[in-house]
This record gives sequence, C-alpha cells and structure tokens, in this order.
Amino acid sequence: MEPIDRRDFMRSVAGTAALAAADLPVTATPQPALSSSSGLVLLTTWQWGGKANERAAEVFHSGGTLLDAVERGINVIEDDPKVMTVGYGGVPNADGVVELDAAIMDGTRHRAGSVCSLHMIKNPISVARQVIEQTSHTTLAGEGAFLFALKMGFQPQQLLTPESLEVWMKWKANPNRKTFWLKENHDTIGMTATDGKGHMVAGCSTSGLAFKIPGRVADSSLVGCGVYADDNAGAASATGNGDLMTNYCTSISIVSAMSRGASPQEACEEILRHMAKTDPKNRYAQCAVIAMNNRGELGNASMNDTMRLRYAVWRNGRNEPIAESPTVY
Ligand code: ASP
Repeated sequence: MEPIDRRDFMRSVAGTAALAAADLPVTATPQPALSSSSGLVLLTTWQWGGKANERAAEVFHSGGTLLDAVERGINVIEDDPKVMTVGYGGVPNADGVVELDAAIMDGTRHRAGSVCSLHMIKNPISVARQVIEQTSHTTLAGEGAFLFALKMGFQPQQLLTPESLEVWMKWKANPNRKTFWLKENHDTIGMTATDGKGHMVAGCSTSGLAFKIPGRVADSSLVGCGVYADDNAGAASATGNGDLMTNYCTSISIVSAMSRGASPQEACEEILRHMAKTDPKNRYAQCAVIAMNNRGELGNASMNDTMRLRYAVWRNGRNEPIAESPTVY
C-alpha cells in the first residue's frame, strides 16, 4: 500500500476545514529576516501560527513567562476544532481514537516535558508543561500520561468532532485505504520563542499522522526531535514526516549547528541536506523545520514543494504576514 501523502490528505478530507483557518495573508517566499535586538520574537509553524502568536504575546505582555506564552499560544490551536491535525478535533488513529503528542522545553533550565499517545485531554502541551513543573520526569506516555493529567486537574472529554469522525469513517470504509503497515500520514504546531534577552523556549503539539498505528510516537513528543531549546544557542522545531525526522534528531541537530556558529537559516538547510545526502529518497519527503537563535534571528526551510511550510512571525509587537519557507530541493 502507498504511504498517505499529507497534501492528498489535506485536499481530500480536512483540507477545507484546515484551510479555513488560514486567516492571514500570504507573502511570496520572503527571505528570513533578522529581528530587532530586543523584545518578544515568536516563530510558529503553519497559517494558524498567527493566532497562536497573538495569544502568546498577550500572555507574555500581561506578565506571563516565556513558557506560559508558548504553552497558552499553542493552546489556541489545540482548542480549535477547525485545525484537524492538533488537539481537539484532530484526525484519529487507525482505531478511531485521537492520540495526542506534545513537548515543551525551557532553554534556561535545560528542562523539557512531554507526553505521547495522550487520549481524551485536549491540551497536551499543558500536560507536558506540568510534567516539567510537578515531576522529575521528562516524558509520560499513554495511560500514565492520562492518569497524570487527571491528577493535575485536566478534564477528560471526547476529542473526536463530527468532522474528524466522518474523516475516519470514510477512511475505514475504503477497502483500498492507505495504511502505515508497509511504510509510512499529518501538521504540527511548533513554536520557537525568545524574550529578547536570550531566554529560549520551544514547544509543539500534534495529533500526529492521520490513521497512524495506535501507539505510534514520532518526533513531536521526543525531546531533541520535535523540539529543542538551549539559551546558549537557540531553539528549533519540526513538522512533517516525524517517523523520518526522529531518525535525524532534527531539532537538536539544528540547535547544535547554531551553537557551532551557523545562522538559523544555515542550520535549517543543513539538516535537510544532510537527510537527503544520507538517503537520496529523503529529498522527496515531507519535512520542514524552524529555528531561532538567542539573538532572535530566524530560519526556516522545507525539504521540497510537496509540503511547503507556511509560518507566522511575531516581532516588534505585531504579527507579520504569513510567509512560505524556501525549499532545499
Ligand atoms: N511530525 C508530526 C508527526 O509525525 C506530524 C506533522 O508535523 O505533520 O507526528
């Protein structure tokens, strides 16, 4: 069976709903810009990143920490049923169950929290945050993550919406449906942030690939893969084929490259080129990355045109128009 292509998926099932969330104008392939030397800078994946940035900035400017800002910004997308690849209303796994992954990392404390395969809790990024604040652990999975969330006061709820249930039922009813048993379907909200004083945070949240095999965990909740943040260098996040990117520890690779002097843009392009160099078929994969260094300079890149990243930048107290990343191939 063929792998499920994200673009096909978005077109065939969730496309209308997901694109409805694209409420900001798109500019044509701008170059990544340098930030002003101070103040909050946010770089967030996909067209709905602007809404997440607005909320994050509001939280930060009302006295919240940078971690609070990233968490609460990502919550906006997790709560939005129109975004069918994150949180409430996310497209379920092959058994029709919504399984959520998320991670958040504080670059000052060098401390991350994450949850994988979390059921019935719509804000996995907030549960991941509580893993940081309330435990000595880093990652909680499945039933344990769910019970922890209950203990932290999160309310369980059905995460399937009529729309996401319909998507799953159509898939299930198709005798020629594509599955992941032979090879490898998905969008993640990834956010990198600085307070303008060198403090870095990265966070991401996803329902993962649509119709994934139950229990599948990929980059988004794995520290160093879906997110990484270190005040000494910067922060990074990834979206796309997380099964593939996990094998390249994408986010820490980018942050390491920045710590060796690469610009965020160079670091993003370097990891994607490296992936294609080690296995030429990776140049056709759907992978995109974002990065920010501790001076608030930005980078982003998509492997190719099949999944070209759109991203939202908050800088100088406002959202810039949604932009498209350059492609490496
Ligand atoms: N990376 C996510 C995953 O593989 C999906 C995505 O970002 O599109 O679960």
